[in-house]
Amino acid sequence: MNQILTPARSLSAAPVIERVETVLVDLPTIRPHKLSVATMNGQTLMLVKIHCSDGVTGIGEGTTIGGLAYGAESPEGMKLAVDTYFAPLLAGQDATRIAPAMDRIGKMVKDNRFAKCAVETALLDAQGKRLGLPVSELLGGRRRERLPVAWTLASGDTGRDIDEAERMLDLRRHRIFKLKIGARPVAEDVAHVAAIKRALGERAAVRVDVNMAWSETDAARGMAALADAGCELVEQPVGSAAALGRLVRRFPVALMADESLTGPESAFAIARDNAADVFAIKIEQSGGLTGAQRVAAIADAAGIGLYGGTMLEGGVGTIASAQVFATFANLQWGTELFGPLLLTEEILRTPLDYSDFELTVPSGPGLGIELDDERVRFFARDGFARKPR
Ligand SMILES: [Mg+2]
Repeated sequence: MNQILTPARSLSAAPVIERVETVLVDLPTIRPHKLSVATMNGQTLMLVKIHCSDGVTGIGEGTTIGGLAYGAESPEGMKLAVDTYFAPLLAGQDATRIAPAMDRIGKMVKDNRFAKCAVETALLDAQGKRLGLPVSELLGGRRRERLPVAWTLASGDTGRDIDEAERMLDLRRHRIFKLKIGARPVAEDVAHVAAIKRALGERAAVRVDVNMAWSETDAARGMAALADAGCELVEQPVGSAAALGRLVRRFPVALMADESLTGPESAFAIARDNAADVFAIKIEQSGGLTGAQRVAAIADAAGIGLYGGTMLEGGVGTIASAQVFATFANLQWGTELFGPLLLTEEILRTPLDYSDFELTVPSGPGLGIELDDERVRFFARDGFARKPR
């Protein structure tokens, strides 16, 4: 039987994956970005290029926040995992069969969600280019062309943050502001948030992200005071999902799960325990774009609101996120896809369109964006850009 099947398969015209390349790109940020877990002065992108036998190339990105400060994967670790373990598994596989290719990786590679996301993105980009369709169309169909984008105020200084917010309102770039808090005492943080909300008034929405820095007692005190200050949403004030469940709906402020949300299984557990009002969906935390859709389906079924989160990706990861967020039935809290705006350097041929408080989802085939290879080469730490094969 196999002898009959084998020649038939070899005659098939399906393009195969020929080569997987990776590169680390170091880019400076416009200002220090202060989180409770780290202060970022630059961002490292791990870019993946998948070359197929029909001449089509797909691109993907894996990015973290503050190296290993946020989670178990780093850009350097992702590059190693993709080069050493993913690439041999992908070589020779049918490039048009993305789900089986990702299943094959899933079987042989545990965890490594961020690296899997980068690879799935590249496969989807290639397939979209091949078929002449945007990635959103491969994922069930686009529901929106533009996405609201929040901006993070994280200079650590109240006056500077207010000036920055005013500038963003003047530019009509953002009118939702997320404040990174948790590094200072609760009372100081609350005063910082209240001062910013007072200055902006009804012209802007103010939310906070504590990045798990608070104890449950801090969180109870902090959430009550933040609700009084006019803050509309508190993101991951504590680390444990059980503690989130004890805090939710006790205060008139929405509670969002972020770090607790690490893919469909955790989404199901949080939904089952009624432990959040909102999910911050991130493609990398979800293990990819299809994983993010599974998380969204669980949220919808549980009546949990959706917010399109970021790992502060560059243009590639940002647009991969935008393509899948554009397919969501609900996106009640908008997105925070501002990653490229935090970087001083452009690595795309055509910059993304941020205007009128929203990001336009590109409409071209695949991700609908193109890397500027010269710029990538200039900022590359190592990899394909410096050593073309
Ligand atoms: Mg967060």
